[in-house]
Amino acid sequence: MPKLKDLIEELVTANRILANEGIVDSFGHVSVRHPDRKDRYLLSRARAPERIEASDIMEFNLDGEPVDVRKAKRFAPYTERFIHGAVYELRPDVQSVVHNHSPSTIPFGVTGNTLKPLLHICASIGHEVPLWDSHDRFGDTALLVNSMAMGRDLAKRLGKGRSALMRGHGAVVAGNSIRHAVFVSYYLELNAKLQMQSMAMGRIKYLYPGEVDAVVARTGPYTLNRAWENWCRRAGRKTKEVG
Ligand SMILES: [Zn+2]
Repeated sequence: MPKLKDLIEELVTANRILANEGIVDSFGHVSVRHPDRKDRYLLSRARAPERIEASDIMEFNLDGEPVDVRKAKRFAPYTERFIHGAVYELRPDVQSVVHNHSPSTIPFGVTGNTLKPLLHICASIGHEVPLWDSHDRFGDTALLVNSMAMGRDLAKRLGKGRSALMRGHGAVVAGNSIRHAVFVSYYLELNAKLQMQSMAMGRIKYLYPGEVDAVVARTGPYTLNRAWENWCRRAGRKTKEVG
């Protein structure tokens, strides 16, 4: 049980960090796979990430059904929780998922310009970020991923990668831990911002594919914990040495 309690605290911290760093605003969410039940995940009830407490965290089956039905009656879950279950279902390696509307990524979903890493620390976003367009299969919708069919279609576009963009909406990030998913989300936003600035100046020299692989290979606990500690302090949260 302490393991679960610690993980819930870490998930609350992840919400606060993402809000504090401007990766989510009143919307967007982060989840973690249940440590003892691979067919479940933990995600807050529908609430702005900056306001989330441990008591808001709920348990869901991969199809988005809340495990505690009584709690679900009192607290509405996120409409877009299906994103999380669909990614966990397709990707057994993924332990944490972020969905956000991070502002600098949006132009890449609507202009045909591909988001690609150009800064070494942003290599974790993947060689290039695929784009999912809900309209291709689902036509005129409110753009919210409100069913497993939509979630699975998005997860398929993410494929084996770490991130994918959603046209006119936002992004999804798949990490191998909460800290990793927060790290990739943060640097997805930074790379997008720098890429727009670089595009205004001229032709961009992106990282070489081999450089992306080399950076990813050395991005481990040392890097993730260093960033995490700093973001925790900024968000007014305690940090643990090893995540
Ligand atoms: Zn959304």
